[in-house]
Amino acid sequence: MTTPARVLIVEDEKQIRRFVRVAVEEEGCEVVEAETRAQGLLEAGARQPALLILDLGLPDGNGIDLIRDLRGWSDIPVLILSARSQEHHKIDALDAGADDYLTKPFSVGELRARVRALLRRGSRSADSASPVIVFGQVVVDLSRRLVTRDGAEVHLTPIEYRLLTVLVGHPGKVLTQRKLLREIWGPSYVESSHYLRVYVG
Ligand code: CA
Repeated sequence: MTTPARVLIVEDEKQIRRFVRVAVEEEGCEVVEAETRAQGLLEAGARQPALLILDLGLPDGNGIDLIRDLRGWSDIPVLILSARSQEHHKIDALDAGADDYLTKPFSVGELRARVRALLRRGSRSADSASPVIVFGQVVVDLSRRLVTRDGAEVHLTPIEYRLLTVLVGHPGKVLTQRKLLREIWGPSYVESSHYLRVYVG
């Protein structure tokens, strides 16, 4: 018998969480639940799930930001659950690294089919790096969004933090300005290289 795939559900609405849990468990998966963006990121780091099912509207922030934080160190498939009023966020979510999305309300059959498809895709490239990166005296804990130097916390702005995580996520590689701009600011900023100069400076 193979070990069941672990699926992390990040959703603040209890009824939807329960609905998704039942559907995913029927696929033979083990479920971990989180209700907030911060808790979701922590669980993703600690439990190393094979799939993340993510609501976009969370009490402590946007699911899209969770995807950006996650993509610094993990390639696990992400399935977005969005309300119809968040239609425009779907594009941002896919650009940020989500793999698929479902609009609420959705059927249990469609949810299960998408979970199966994403788990198949994920098992071919299951390659999650450690969420803790150490270089010299600096420790970057990506699942806690915490940076320390010599044990003391380093305070970074959200953009500074994102820049650091993209750089540490590609050790030894040359990154183009366009790639950095796209990953940190978004696809419409690829020509704004002055942003990059200011922040790297
Ligand atoms: Ca919600």
